Amino acid sequence: MTERRLRTQVGIIGAGPAGLLLAQLLARQGIESVIVENRSREYVEARIRAGVLEHQTVQLLTDAGVGDRLHREGLRHDGVYLQWPGERHHIDFPGLCGRSVWVYGQTEVVKDLIAARVEAALPLHFDVADTALVDVESDRPQIRFTSADGEATVLECDLVAGCDGFHGISRPAIPEQLRTTWERVYPFAWLGILAQVAPSTDELIYAWHPDGFAMHSMRSPSVSRLYLQVDPTERIEDWSDDRIWSQLQHRMGLDGWTLNAGPVLDKGITPMRSFVSAPMRHGNLFLAGDAAHIVPPTGAKGLNLAAADVKVLAEAIVARTQEGRTDLLDAYSDTALRRVWRATHFSWWMTSMMHVNPHGDAFDRQLQLSQLRYVTSSTAAATGLAENYTGMPFE
Ligand SMILES: Cc1cc2nc3c(=O)[nH]c(=O)nc-3n(C[C@H](O)[C@H](O)[C@H](O)COP(=O)(O)OP(=O)(O)OC[C@H]3O[C@@H](n4cnc5c(N)ncnc54)[C@H](O)[C@@H]3O)c2cc1C
Repeated sequence: MTERRLRTQVGIIGAGPAGLLLAQLLARQGIESVIVENRSREYVEARIRAGVLEHQTVQLLTDAGVGDRLHREGLRHDGVYLQWPGERHHIDFPGLCGRSVWVYGQTEVVKDLIAARVEAALPLHFDVADTALVDVESDRPQIRFTSADGEATVLECDLVAGCDGFHGISRPAIPEQLRTTWERVYPFAWLGILAQVAPSTDELIYAWHPDGFAMHSMRSPSVSRLYLQVDPTERIEDWSDDRIWSQLQHRMGLDGWTLNAGPVLDKGITPMRSFVSAPMRHGNLFLAGDAAHIVPPTGAKGLNLAAADVKVLAEAIVARTQEGRTDLLDAYSDTALRRVWRATHFSWWMTSMMHVNPHGDAFDRQLQLSQLRYVTSSTAAATGLAENYTGMPFE
């Protein structure tokens, strides 16, 4: 059987936010890359996931030339509401740390990045199969795959970026004895819905309730995203739309406030975990995004961390390619992991403060309420939340 042979500077596995943004940042600096993705364009563009962008992520997308629609259609949020039964308090981000966040769906970020890539006629292979990594320790690592038209392909690279998410092939390509992993599986999950209804709030509401956490987020002025804490063993088939809306109302209800219900467009249950794998480099293979780390969504950090990783990685690749410097690539894993652990701590802290632990007791619940009162009444405590939520400045 004949093999097609291709050559590029940076081979990228995965057309999620990490892989697409890395390719865009490199293209702006004249560095070639090829992306291989095992799903279709339609599937990747429709995958409902994150929706809150940190201040720095917005800046990065803007600098990368893909911020036009984000600035037109995205919603700038200057804070969040923290709530517990009978009380709702606003955390004012600009007043506390001078930064804001933007609500703009991951689906839209991905669509913008794919559109830029397609418009520039740069290589992006969807629907590939049998992706495999070969010789990643060498100077000529390869990505092997079968293209959508069934052709066996060898992509020879200077280096490979493993941006293939938590279930990809890149992390397992690092020998197990060289990897250290840390993991926390939480005893609850999020039942999330996307609903065709105008948000009932101007900014996100995080609600603690003795029956479990609830959250009101949004994707646009006409589409709301809402979440309920549920047991990880719950089945989505057992949650009718009426049951979901009534639990949301029960956990988020407040005198003088109405929750608008509407048609449910999408619903699903996502388990929650924290996971970090180090190092994020092996030879000429560099991991970025969910391939190396997962955070529970409470801190809205997953997509932002993926963007932060590829910013550091792109700068390091540019330094090597244009100046022959390898120090930034050598430091990549340590530099990225410092931010990963900050976000991991913040996401764990928000999760622990807002969710009712099924193995906890009345003492734990009183500690949570005390923490919530503290964060909403002390400028020092609120500033910690604000600066982490909006994203710490890049190193
Ligand atoms: C169900 C779900 C809900 C989420 N909700 C939120 C949220 O509400 N808020 C939040 O902040 N974060 C959320 N996240 C996290 C956030 O979406 C991720 O952190 C973000 O997608 C990471 O981007 P990434 O590019 O690293 O990985 P991904 O988006 O996972 O992209 C990886 C890409 O690699 C492709 N791929 C995998 N294996 C291969 C292979 N062998 N060959 C070729 N391609 C491959 C995949 O198809 C995928 O397109 C959620 C994640 C999930 C899974």
